[in-house]
Amino acid sequence: MGQLIIGIDVGGTKVAGGLVTLKGRLMESQVVPTNADKGFAKSYAQIVNLIERLIRGAGGKQNLCGIGICAPGPLNPKTGVVINPPNLPGWRNIELAKMLEKKFGLPAKVENDANAAGLAEALFGAAVGFRDVFYVTVSTGIGTGIIINRKIYHGKNGIAGEGGHVSIDYRSPYRCGCGTYGCIEALAAGPAIARRARVRLEQEHELPSALRDLTHGHLEQISPLMIQQAAFGGDPVAKSILDETGFYLGVWLAGMITLFDPDAIVIGGGVSQIGKSLFNKIKETIPQYTINRFAAETPVLPAKLQKDVGVCGAAAVFLPSE
Ligand SMILES: [Zn+2]
Repeated sequence: MGQLIIGIDVGGTKVAGGLVTLKGRLMESQVVPTNADKGFAKSYAQIVNLIERLIRGAGGKQNLCGIGICAPGPLNPKTGVVINPPNLPGWRNIELAKMLEKKFGLPAKVENDANAAGLAEALFGAAVGFRDVFYVTVSTGIGTGIIINRKIYHGKNGIAGEGGHVSIDYRSPYRCGCGTYGCIEALAAGPAIARRARVRLEQEHELPSALRDLTHGHLEQISPLMIQQAAFGGDPVAKSILDETGFYLGVWLAGMITLFDPDAIVIGGGVSQIGKSLFNKIKETIPQYTINRFAAETPVLPAKLQKDVGVCGAAAVFLPSE
C-alpha cells in the first residue's frame, strides 16, 4: 500500500488539494479556482487536473492509498454521491467517488466538509489524544462533526451531525435557511450575528453605537468583523451582540454535552477567531444548561489546523482506523 493520500477540499470558490502522509502531515498543496459558476463539467475538470498534478508530485500511483474528497453537503459519504450543494450550482446527484475511481484507478471517498474537518482536528489537530470529539465550525453557516472513537458518526442515511440545524428557540423570530426557527446557525453564524446587530440598531434607533459610524448609517453593511472591531474599541452594543453569541453557543453546546458527553469540543471557523471573550462566555454558560455534572471540565478548544483542515480531513478518511 502507498504511503501518501491525496486530499481534495472542494469549496464554492476554490479547490485545494494536497499530499498527506499517513501521520497527517501535509507534504504539498495547491489551490485552483472551482469555476463553479461555469457548471459541473468545468469544476470537475479542475479537480481532475489537480489530482493529475498531485499524482505526479507523489511520484506515481503506486505511492498512493487513495483520494479523499471533502465537499459541502448534502452528500452521501456511503455512496460517494454529491446531492445538490447550494454553493456548487450545477452539481446534482454527482457520483463523484465512482467517477474518480474509474478515472484514476485509485479508491476514492467523499465526505461532508464539517465531518472531515472534525476528523482532522481529532486525529492531527486540537483534539489529538481524545477519542470522542464534537467539532463545530462557525462561519457563514454552522457545520458540525460527531467523532466517536476517532471515527465519523454518519447515521443511517449518512447525514448525521447537522448540529447547526438544532433549534435552541422554537419561538425565535429568526428563521433559518432550512426552514426551522431558532437553529443555532440562524442565531450565531456570521450573517446571523450581523443581522442581530442590525435589527437591534434599527429597533433602538437612538441607541448610539460605533457601528453606525463604521457603516455611515448603512446598517445593512454591518459585518461580523466590524462588530468585532467595534467591540474591541469598547462599543457596548457590539460587545453585547458578541456576548449574546457566546451565550447562544453555550446553551447549544450544553445540549450537545448532555447528549454526547464528549472528551472535547473543538470550535473552528472565522467566528471562533473572535477569541477569548467568546470562548469564556461559552464556557461560563455551558454548566448552567446541562445535567452533565462534568460539563465544566469538558475542554472547549480552538481549532488548530486552519486553512489546511479540509485537505487534511479529506485525506483522513483514508487512514486505517484501529
Ligand atoms: Zn436550520
